[in-house]
Amino acid sequence: MIMIYKGSCNCNQWQVEVEVTKPLGDFNPRSCDCDYCKNSPSVIISEPNMRIDLAGGEITINRNGDQLANFYYCDSCNDLLAVGCDLNSQLRGAVNANLLRDANQLGKTIEIQPRLLSADEKIDRWGRLWGQLNGV
Ligand SMILES: [Zn+2]
Ligand SMILES: [Zn+2]
Repeated sequence: MIMIYKGSCNCNQWQVEVEVTKPLGDFNPRSCDCDYCKNSPSVIISEPNMRIDLAGGEITINRNGDQLANFYYCDSCNDLLAVGCDLNSQLRGAVNANLLRDANQLGKTIEIQPRLLSADEKIDRWGRLWGQLNGV
């Protein structure tokens, strides 16, 4: 079964549509404990079957400490939209769960520590965890 969840950033410049094969309640948002993410706290969700469609205006792209992943922000309200990177020439990523209107249905948040992983381990993990990211 395919379910679609929608949302937007704070200023509404960016619309988010997430297509998943399980309800939001089955997702545990992931909160990263690195310095970069502690400075701009957010929780993200993804799974390989997820399709994330972003549509909007201008975007700001930041890279975190090890330069592997892109952090996509609305350039107007600075909300994090998604995290992503190119894996085998496909853009993959995870969406900011708090953008979704039904974010209150989400499962329990878990803390992750990707800073403990090597670059190769991260890429490997994202390949197994991230969905398909469109529109950025
Ligand atoms: Zn915005
Ligand atoms: Zn982090």
